[in-house]
Amino acid sequence: MKNFGYYMPVRTFYGTDCVKAHQDVLAQFGKKALIVTGRHSAKANGAQADITSALEAVGCSWVLFDQVGENPDLETVVAAGKLAQEEQVDFVIGIGGGSPMDAAKAISVLAANPGAPSDILFNDPKAKTLPVVEIPTTAGTGSEVTQYAIITLHEKRTKNGIVQPLFASVSFLDPKYMDVLSEKVTNNTAVDAMSHLVESYLNTAASQLSKEMAKIGLSYWKECIPALKARTYTAETREKLMMASAIGGMVIAQTSTSIPHGLGYFLTYEKGIPHGRANGMLMQAYLELFDKEDENVKAVLDCLGLASTEEMGQLMKDVLDCPETFTAEDLAYYTKRALETPQKLLTFPCYKLDEKDVLSVYEKSLL
Ligand code: NAP
Ligand code: FE
Repeated sequence: MKNFGYYMPVRTFYGTDCVKAHQDVLAQFGKKALIVTGRHSAKANGAQADITSALEAVGCSWVLFDQVGENPDLETVVAAGKLAQEEQVDFVIGIGGGSPMDAAKAISVLAANPGAPSDILFNDPKAKTLPVVEIPTTAGTGSEVTQYAIITLHEKRTKNGIVQPLFASVSFLDPKYMDVLSEKVTNNTAVDAMSHLVESYLNTAASQLSKEMAKIGLSYWKECIPALKARTYTAETREKLMMASAIGGMVIAQTSTSIPHGLGYFLTYEKGIPHGRANGMLMQAYLELFDKEDENVKAVLDCLGLASTEEMGQLMKDVLDCPETFTAEDLAYYTKRALETPQKLLTFPCYKLDEKDVLSVYEKSLL
């Protein structure tokens, strides 16, 4: 066995009404919270009301920033960071999909460093942070258990991770918030969770433990395939997707993600393709970068009940709606951009990927 480490310091609570059941843990973070949400869903799915009742029950006051859009940009987190400073909050609570959860992490850094420029997020890994609490309302990103926060930088026409490894102090995972999640967001985010599990399993940094965990996550995901294809979800499906997503977060926290994430960011920035769907569109071609007989790829496919990479491609077609068209110029541009930040390419375990390999993934997936 290869030596390895494992680190996942987030205290997590699971299950229906877990915010109310464990509200006492909130008091330890201080007297005033900034709640960070998207524009609508946290109100519609009940998560915002649950957390405000919990805060009031333990004697905390709160202010709300409810302007986080999809793929949050630097301008948004800077505005919320200002509000956090003006209001002198003690901690930050993110409620939503990955967008508000990631934004909450970045905001907690800006809030803890009054007067610092916003590029502190990308150049000072040791910057102070406020405590963060996360409440996922999609089952996809796993941000509630990862140290990552991905922010859109218009100046760079892509997304970058903040450099502070920022795990939430506490996360509450209640599947009931997903009852009102649309079919599209459910499937797109489910594919994000699946791609975390696959990209972690097939990663240079994978360990025996992360791989065993990824297999458990994939087995939950496999059980949801009929529901994802039919686009009808029972409470049990929601629970299983939430578990697959949380385990996906725990394993990418150990290994990072890999090629579909690295190449998918440009599809999101340039074409507005939702993050999880972008990963799914690239998945078959990614798996085909490996040798046909690769044992790890076979293991991943086997966990999902798939016999071949072609079946993976078909599954992605069945669960995702992909209307976009691409030109050869688009793909050449994404390839050039992907090669500018080679870190993700280095997570591929078999050989050094070059321009031809990257372009081939885009061509097979998108033309
Ligand atoms: P999202 O952008 O957070 O949300 C997508 C849409 O779903 C929004 O319109 C949102 O509405 C809505 N929504 C969220 N929860 C809902 C609910 N329970 N009911 C109804 N509608 C709901 O999507 P996401 O895929 O979860 O997050 C994507 C972001 O996460 C990207 O920026 C990606 O880079 C990042 N990410 C982070 C990590 C990590 O480890 N930190 C990993 C993967 C991806 P509202 O806007 O009204 O809330
Ligand atoms: Fe992701």
